[in-house]
Amino acid sequence: MKQAEELQQILRRIDHKGYPAYKDTAGAYQFRDYVLSIDHVQGDPFASPSKVSIHIDGKKAGFPADMTGEKHTRIALADALIRRFGKEAEQYSHKAKGSGKSGLLSVSRPGQEVLERSACEISPGSGDLVVRLEIGFPANGRTINSGELIKILFRFLPECVQNALFYKNADQKHLKAVKELAQDQHFIRGQLKERKLAAFVADGAVLPRESGISDRPMKQAVAFLSPESMAVELDLPYAGRIRGMGIPQGITLIVGGGYHGKSTLLKALERGVYNHIAKDGREYVITDDTAVKIRAEDGRSIRGTDISMFINGLPNGKDTRSFATEDASGSTSQAANVIEAMEAGTRLFLIDEDTSATNFMIRDELMARVVHPKMEPITPFIDRVEELADGYGVSTILVAGSCGSYFYKADHVIQMMQYQPKEITQLAKQEAERFLDLTKDKPALPAAERPAFHRVFAAARKASQNDRTKIKGMGKDAVSIDRDAIELRYVEQLVDSEQTMALGYMVKYAKQHLFDGKRDMQEIAGLLERLVEEKGVGAVCEGRYLPCNLARPRVQEIFACLNRCRTLG
Ligand code: ADP
Ligand code: MG
Repeated sequence: MKQAEELQQILRRIDHKGYPAYKDTAGAYQFRDYVLSIDHVQGDPFASPSKVSIHIDGKKAGFPADMTGEKHTRIALADALIRRFGKEAEQYSHKAKGSGKSGLLSVSRPGQEVLERSACEISPGSGDLVVRLEIGFPANGRTINSGELIKILFRFLPECVQNALFYKNADQKHLKAVKELAQDQHFIRGQLKERKLAAFVADGAVLPRESGISDRPMKQAVAFLSPESMAVELDLPYAGRIRGMGIPQGITLIVGGGYHGKSTLLKALERGVYNHIAKDGREYVITDDTAVKIRAEDGRSIRGTDISMFINGLPNGKDTRSFATEDASGSTSQAANVIEAMEAGTRLFLIDEDTSATNFMIRDELMARVVHPKMEPITPFIDRVEELADGYGVSTILVAGSCGSYFYKADHVIQMMQYQPKEITQLAKQEAERFLDLTKDKPALPAAERPAFHRVFAAARKASQNDRTKIKGMGKDAVSIDRDAIELRYVEQLVDSEQTMALGYMVKYAKQHLFDGKRDMQEIAGLLERLVEEKGVGAVCEGRYLPCNLARPRVQEIFACLNRCRTLG
């Protein structure tokens, strides 16, 4: 291992030379309390900044075992550290001057959710810590300015590392609170299973967000309060007793007038598959972490999904046991989304009427009298929702603003009134009984054949072996692998562009190593999931260094991404 002084010597030697001479700095250097590794040096001052990582021995970092021992607390600690480190680094960004990206210090910026990230990883057992960031190596024009980089690497960075990454210098009270919240959230997830709940929303939770572009809590929002009839009390290991609404497994409707907060509740449940940071308002909104938001997605590609549970006898004679299209309709896309979510192991569908295809959700009776059912290829979701719950163990929480037919199917009906929930199951059932409904006495539909999940692919276009394969993220909306774009805009539970990037690397990895024309989709997604579970989110990157901007997606989103990939054969 080279010493820090050697790095200084190299930098002095290459000062005022052409930019490519910076490449000589690549390597690992022992600083007093940590190792600085220059993993990749940018080609010129305007290129993507250089990749640098900090490695600290677990004993030196000194974080207590109860923070690093269990997976959920380790992830929460890493999240807290990267937030703190980012704040420190921000003060120094562009304090060193020059052309292009000179002096930039760029650290991952987590949002409201706590995700596993390549920006900060803590080893189980040893507690060894790695932090990854980007630094714009300074230049004047295209000439190296070593003095400015020496400032960054020998003054700014050591300061950030000291302040943010050692327990002895940390805000220990804050880190204790972070650990305790993670433990409590973990406990609630366990309670969902034990009490057969699909979700829990605590009293006092703040569900609405500040604005369409800010994910922070709305100020002066009406706090959530569970109706007595659905209230559950939990004794959390740290926060003590809390009360909230427990949504049982089964079929739950959320109804209410327009603008009364239905979609806001559903959105919070969608996000409840992740843990949230303190003061988010949704810290104790916890949803079954396999839950999948289901929506219509016109135009998506579908590759051999068995949608026959919902769609049969299409006028063009297409096989719906293995349905393929490059441009799905509202109803076929939503049907595929349901089946693929089941394939991905979901136990809970989250559906908002606002973003659904009407003809997928219900069949209008008057219409059925005019257009003969034999001419209608769609078996609506309402006719399968009980079968899905009873036969497949997949619950549904559905926002139904306008369609009352689901009252007949629901186990629980919650009405949102001025942003407050009220349970109206009895009332809704009574009214439904009194209402003349022509479908009520319809003979029960025979159960559908179990969907076939055995879809086998080869990569029609293999990702190239070298690490020149270009992976480009477009925010949360899409990721492209060598210019093949995968649309992810409507995969709504992707919450961070770093997850999208990670999915890009996963698809590349799968195309190189996994799609062999023999393995099916479940095997491939399962292998990817196991790889990142065992070795971290970066395990799918095979380049010479690990990118600092990856966050781990759930296995459900891995499936969603593979399913939208248009270059599988
Ligand atoms: P719906 O789906 O019932 O039509 P939304 O959930 O879209 O209603 O909510 C309508 C508006 O009310 C949104 O602008 C939302 O931010 C706001 N809102 C939702 N819940 C609350 C709350 N608890 N307190 C204050 N405003 C809220
Ligand atoms: Mg709505």
